[in-house]
Amino acid sequence: MEVRLAKTAGFCFGVRRAVDTVYEQVEQAEGPIYTYGPIVHNETVVQELEEKGVKVLNSEEELKSLTSGTVIIRAHGVGEKVYELLKQQGVNLVDATCPFVKKIHRIARKEEANGRHILIIGNAKHPEVEGIRGWCEKPAYVVESLEEAENFALPMGEKLCIVSQTTFNYNKFEDIVEIISKKGYDIIVLNTICSATEERQTEAREIASDVDAMIVIGGSHSSNTQKLFEICKKECENTYYIQSLDDLDLKTSQSIRCVGITAGASTPNKIIEEVQKHVRIKF
Ligand code: SF4
Repeated sequence: MEVRLAKTAGFCFGVRRAVDTVYEQVEQAEGPIYTYGPIVHNETVVQELEEKGVKVLNSEEELKSLTSGTVIIRAHGVGEKVYELLKQQGVNLVDATCPFVKKIHRIARKEEANGRHILIIGNAKHPEVEGIRGWCEKPAYVVESLEEAENFALPMGEKLCIVSQTTFNYNKFEDIVEIISKKGYDIIVLNTICSATEERQTEAREIASDVDAMIVIGGSHSSNTQKLFEICKKECENTYYIQSLDDLDLKTSQSIRCVGITAGASTPNKIIEEVQKHVRIKF
């Protein structure tokens, strides 16, 4: 049977880099190792790292209680305050913030210094957006919906810089920008959406439309995996959603000659490899 594995399956560049950083620290660092928040939303990875002694810190309070060890900042990034806190605590800081997110921090800093208010198009509760806000001196605005964009108001003559959460939907970003642009402010718009999610979806759609069965691997709560599943299911009725190889119950018949495989952003390579090998050997 032919197997087509999506090149974009699994971790994006930023998450892979962050996870690799933790494993490197496990090899090198002396003393306890912590990640500020789970390094990736995948229980298998977090558990494996826990077994290697990596602990997850979930709040600033927990950070404040540290006096030694190494703290790794994940791909989403954090605000400047967290860096200062870590310095004060005297712990070793390892920064695995995705460079694409770091770039937004720099934009926010620079444009605020140029006298602009920062408006982030994204979800205010998402850690990445919280991190970006944490690089602004003045409170940054966050807009997520068209309705919020309609209601957004600044005194006339104020200057604005619009950026986006890296994983925001491009069409919605455009619609929100259009609404705000009509309000007559002095605006600069910087599209900071990362293409990783879109590329993964486009490739999944392409493969699913061309195979007899499609396997989508990812956590049951992972919203980006659910979205991948929906996309694939539309193209290929015979689409399976699995978390790991144990869930795979591929009904083989003579009509299945080609199987496609993709995976959500928090699925480790190891699981993808296992599924791929199994399908190649078994069928
Ligand atoms: Fe991944 Fe893109 Fe987010 Fe970086 S910005 S972590 S590459 S999705």
